Parts: sequence; structure tokens; C-alpha cells
Amino acid sequence: MEDRRQTVFIAGAGLVGSLLSIFLAKKGFAVQVLEKRADPRQNLRNEGRSINLALSHRGLRALEAADAQLPERILAEAVPMYGRQMHDEQGHLSFQPYSSTKACIYSVSRSQLNNCLINAAEHQGVSFLFEHSIEETDFASKTILLSHQDKSFTIEATVLIAADGVFSKVRSSLEKQGLCHSRLEKIDHGYKELDIPAEKGSLLAPQTALHIWPRGEYMMIALPNFDKSYTGTLFLPFNDEDLSFQELHDEASVMRFFHAHFPDASVLFPDLAKQYFSNPTSFLANVFTDRWAFGEWLLIGDAAHGIVPFYGQGMNAGFEDCRLLDELLTQHHDHFEVAFQTLCDNRKKDTDAIARLAMDNFIEMRDLVADDHFLLQKKIEGALSKALPEQWKTLYSEVTFSDTPYSEALARGLKNQGIMNEIMSDPSLDLKRWEEKEVWDLILKKVSGQ
Ligand SMILES: Cc1cc2nc3c(=O)[nH]c(=O)nc-3n(C[C@H](O)[C@H](O)[C@H](O)COP(=O)(O)OP(=O)(O)OC[C@H]3O[C@@H](n4cnc5c(N)ncnc54)[C@H](O)[C@@H]3O)c2cc1C
Repeated sequence: MEDRRQTVFIAGAGLVGSLLSIFLAKKGFAVQVLEKRADPRQNLRNEGRSINLALSHRGLRALEAADAQLPERILAEAVPMYGRQMHDEQGHLSFQPYSSTKACIYSVSRSQLNNCLINAAEHQGVSFLFEHSIEETDFASKTILLSHQDKSFTIEATVLIAADGVFSKVRSSLEKQGLCHSRLEKIDHGYKELDIPAEKGSLLAPQTALHIWPRGEYMMIALPNFDKSYTGTLFLPFNDEDLSFQELHDEASVMRFFHAHFPDASVLFPDLAKQYFSNPTSFLANVFTDRWAFGEWLLIGDAAHGIVPFYGQGMNAGFEDCRLLDELLTQHHDHFEVAFQTLCDNRKKDTDAIARLAMDNFIEMRDLVADDHFLLQKKIEGALSKALPEQWKTLYSEVTFSDTPYSEALARGLKNQGIMNEIMSDPSLDLKRWEEKEVWDLILKKVSGQ
């Protein structure tokens, strides 16, 4: 049993650090969060970050486990999204529901969510030190070098949980001490956020959907905000012979690009070129770390396993880390070392799996969603999950609407893909024929026989 007067330090008051602090404070620990930014409750916008993000089952379950009132508070200003609204190059629309049971994901404001968690944590007695940046750590002496307003000082931290994001200083300093190894896998695409104001947002219907403009090698998406505005995100290669951020170097090239490839969306952005050049272009990466647990120090959330955003699971996975850690601490009588090591041992295969799924989903979103063969497959899969709900769960719903460990969802998804490949290899199958009784019976037989 740990000494509850002992302070648990958390690096980072982002989404994961703030939620984790609530779990720990509720267990009776003194919790001190060290955050390099100013108090975000004084900020109107988190520069350079997606300003809304998709919250789904895993995240909601963790929020509820931390504080039963949190989901209600957060969902009060969230927008449910029931599926993808696809926009083709001619402006034609098609809707693909996420599930046959009307399950949804929620678009939430990143800053509101973060502020709500910090408020809830303070309510539990957590103390936040803003504008305190971690510069170095020394594991041998269990010390952290902090800087605050041009001054540096060292503090002792017997228990430290690093939730300081994808570029974690704690992780890199542990790495320098030869304690772990991480791999940052940058992808060729970057992203840029572009705001659609509320008066234009009403032209983008339905509001309760994630809008996608798939264009093969690149894409744009838009998530709704509670005030009827949208946050659009353009994903484009950094360098490409045909189309890339590099090619869009002046107002004329930006306007030409949008009018040619996103004609229906280009009218939704006032000052498109101005926004384009004033908003940053950021890169995307997966981070794989071979070790998260170091005695009573731990890496968690993006600091341990940052992933590209294409499955909308980075935060949800980080929140799930917090819930699982809370359960392990309870199970192991708040013995940090054992709980940290067990979390790392149990969970790494799952975060590796969601990283792979997120990369696959990028291809699905930007390319396959506009492909007839793929759409037919999705229709058949949707019908199968209705007809055989116990036997056939779509990969998307296992990842998004269940607690199934990501690695199990991936394994089942691969197995199901094999069955679907066999079904789809029938060249006579089309949008009408698959519903004919004898064809459908054959499909059911194939699935049930596996
Ligand atoms: C474009 C984009 C879209 C996304 N969309 C989704 C989505 O729809 N759904 C989803 O689930 N996830 C999404 N994600 C992923 C999600 O943003 C992350 O998984 C999540 O923010 C991770 O939370 P975290 O607390 O681990 O890290 P962060 O949110 O990065 O927080 C880290 C905190 O640590 C602080 N910090 C950093 N360095 C130091 C230091 N040296 N000293 C002190 N403090 C420090 C930072 O200031 C920050 O407050 C998206 C990500 C991107 C980039």
C-alpha cells in the first residue's frame, strides 16, 4: 500500500494528464501537475492543434469512471456524428452510417474538454503548476529540472507519470539515460486546419456527420462545432510531384486548388487564402516506445504511444490508459511499480494495433470511401452485422463502440477481411444482386461456416 501523503507528479495538463489527475486524487493521493503552457482556461484557442476532436465509447467510459458527472457535462456541448457524409469532386453527396444501431461518436471542443477536466481535477484537490516546463529528468536521483520564468530549479519526484504528449521531454530524457528507445514515424502527409464560420456552416448538412472530401492521395474533413461552425482539416503530402503543400505557395494556387478539387467546400471558407497562409501546417506521426514503465515512473497517453488521427482514437486510447491504470492500481493495492509494469505489459500490443488501424483508416478515408467495390463491401458488412450481431461485428464498431482490446479487434478484423475477400471475389456481385435471396443465403452460409 502506497503512502497517500506522498505526492504523485504528472507531467502535462493536456487531456490525458488532467483526466489521470482526477483518478489519482480520488484515490486519495496528493497530485501535482506540471504544465509548460499558461493556464489554458485563459486561452481562447490552442494554436496549431485540431480544435475539435471525436470522442467515442472508450473515452466516455473512462470519463465516467473518473467522475460520473463528466460525460453529461462534456456532452452538453458536443455534436453527435452518426456517420460520414461524403462529398465527391462534382459536389454529389452520399451518407455512410457508422452503425446499424444509430451509435454515434461526438465532436467535442478540445479546449472546452481540457478546461472541464482541469476544473474537475481542481475540485478534487489536484494542484496545477502552469508555466512550469520540464527540461530534464534524472531517473537515478528521481529528480526533475523545471524552468519557470527564466529560472531553473530541481524537484524530487519519487512517483512521476509523464503525460507530456507526443514530443515528451520525459521520454526523451529517459532515452538519453539509456532507459528506453522510441521511434517517431512521420508520415508523408501534413495537415492544416481551416475554420468554417457558423453562418456558412449551416450550408453544410447534416450537421450530425463527419464530412469527408476523399481525393485519393489527399483529403479534407470537417467536424461540426456546437455553435454550428465547423473545423475543416486538409491532409496533403508535404512534397509530391503533383499535389502538395509545397505547390500551394501563393493565393492564386490555393484558390485554384480548392475550386478544382473541393468546389462545394471552397465557398464555405471566407478569407480562404488568408487562413491558409496564417494557419500552421503541422506534421503527423506515430510514436512507438519500447518501454513505458520505469519503477515508479511511467509514460502514458501520447508520450508513450502517439498515433496519427485517422481513427479518431488517440485521445480515446489515452483516456482508456487512465481507466485501466486506475483499475490496476486498485487491483494491486495502489502499488505503483506493479501497476505501471502491468499496464505496459498488457497494453503495448493494443496501442501498436490501433497505430496500424489508424494508418489503414487513412487509406480508407481518403481513397476507398469513394470506391464502388468498397461501398458494396461496407453495405454487405452492415447487413451481416444486423443479421448475425453476435458473429459479425464490423471492425469500426469494435474499435469505436466497444471496449474490445484493439489487438483483438484488429485480429478479428483481419479474419473478417479474409472472409469478405472471398465473398467479394464473385465478379457478378453488385449493389442489387447481393440482396437476392439465394446470393444472400450463400453469403450467410460462408460467414456462419467460418
Ligand atoms: C489533427 C489531430 C486530430 C486529432 N483528432 C483526434 C480525435 O478525433 N479523437 C481522438 O481520440 N484523438 C485525436 N487526436 C489525438 C489527440 O489529440 C491526442 O491523442 C491527445 O491530445 C493526447 O493527449 P495527451 O494528454 O497524451 O497529450 P497532449 O494533449 O499533447 O498534452 C500534453 C501536455 O503536456 C504539456 N507539455 C509538453 N511538454 C511539456 C514539458 N516539457 N513540461 C511540461 N508540460 C509539457 C503540453 O503543453 C500539453 O498540455 C488528434 C490529434 C491531431 C494532431
